[in-house]
Amino acid sequence: MLRGMARQCPTCQRAVSQGWPENPSAPFCSGRCKGVDLGRWLNESYRVVARDAAPDEATVAELERALQDPKRWS
Ligand SMILES: [Zn+2]
Repeated sequence: MLRGMARQCPTCQRAVSQGWPENPSAPFCSGRCKGVDLGRWLNESYRVVARDAAPDEATVAELERALQDPKRWS
């Protein structure tokens, strides 16, 4: 991992010598690297949301069993 005050751009691994306020893109070396990382992060989030939104097969089977159980509705 990083030692001391040395910083690396999380996107391109280049040394980042300046933080806030001199470098408004810190901890990234540039606005471009900041944008790349943000885009990657958003893609990950969308994938997680999409996966969680779809019920898994076990849940669907459980719901269908419950709907077909006559005792549930008597
Ligand atoms: Zn960079």
